[in-house]
Amino acid sequence: MPKRPPFLPEEIANIHKLCDSCGKIVRPNFWSEFDGPFIPIYPDGTKGEKGAFIQISATTSCGCGAKTSFDIEAKRLKHFIHFYGDEAERQVRNYDLLVYSLIGGTSGQIQQIEEDVRALKCEVLPDIDPESWRIHTTEMMDSKKRIQHGVYKHISSKKIIPFFEGCTNIFRKNEEFSWNICSIGFLKSPSNKRKRRTYLKDGRITVHQALLSYAIHRSTKKELRPMFTLDASRPIINDPHLEGWSYDTYNGSRCFLANAFLSHSNDINAPNFVAPGSHPCLELADVHAYFAARNLAKRTTKQRAEISLKEFGKFSYLIMLDNNSMDYLTGDDIPNKYIPS
Ligand SMILES: [Zn+2]
Repeated sequence: MPKRPPFLPEEIANIHKLCDSCGKIVRPNFWSEFDGPFIPIYPDGTKGEKGAFIQISATTSCGCGAKTSFDIEAKRLKHFIHFYGDEAERQVRNYDLLVYSLIGGTSGQIQQIEEDVRALKCEVLPDIDPESWRIHTTEMMDSKKRIQHGVYKHISSKKIIPFFEGCTNIFRKNEEFSWNICSIGFLKSPSNKRKRRTYLKDGRITVHQALLSYAIHRSTKKELRPMFTLDASRPIINDPHLEGWSYDTYNGSRCFLANAFLSHSNDINAPNFVAPGSHPCLELADVHAYFAARNLAKRTTKQRAEISLKEFGKFSYLIMLDNNSMDYLTGDDIPNKYIPS
């Protein structure tokens, strides 16, 4: 049986009515598994969205036997919105810190970001083709690794932080239309090794699914079709959790009514996994995830990172409270109350 997505945006989770017959609170059966998926059904001989049968309501039976109907806000998706995602993980004292950053934008915005990243690379290394090297924050920030790297060794140590500040300028320049989303979780890890592994796996799924569910709900609400490109930082074949994270959200949950509410009755493509840094937005996602994790980790001991979260401008932050709920806020920082001290 597929795992149910553990997270719903509040707007969906709060849907309820009072039963006409007995007056009790009734909610849609989000998590009952249905026989068929809640995606558009295309009659024979038709293509595309036109003529498709779309789920626009769902019925729940109350304990008293009466039926209550709930409308599903179905949307026709008109344009694409692209999301590029990368992750960072750290051990902070007895916590595992998980961070997943998504850089989002319409085609025009993404193109602008691509140009800005290229220009920034030319500025720091004018003699090297910007297409020939990728930003990998961990290696660039580690002075030992940097001097051994074929390209990074040409960047002097005093130019490293200004380079990343240049990256944050690109974020802030585009923040007015920002679709950037970041999901984080501090997991208080059990000391038992095996328990910790299971705990971590569940935590990753929650943080990841919350992120994708939120992105799907927000874009489809605006009649945009989300397309996800994610960094396959580890070989996919050897690491099924990477696929599991995403495919649970798409395939498993298509048989849950929650999926129809999340996607506004649309069929959303499964994410594409690509080589690390193979798109400028993946490079920026790497930069954000790295510094978000570094900031949060440092703040647990009242220290500061070289670059603060504020410099990245406006983000939608999702913060895991427990394995079933997330807090959500839009702004340029994560308040201290979410950081263990
Ligand atoms: Zn009733």
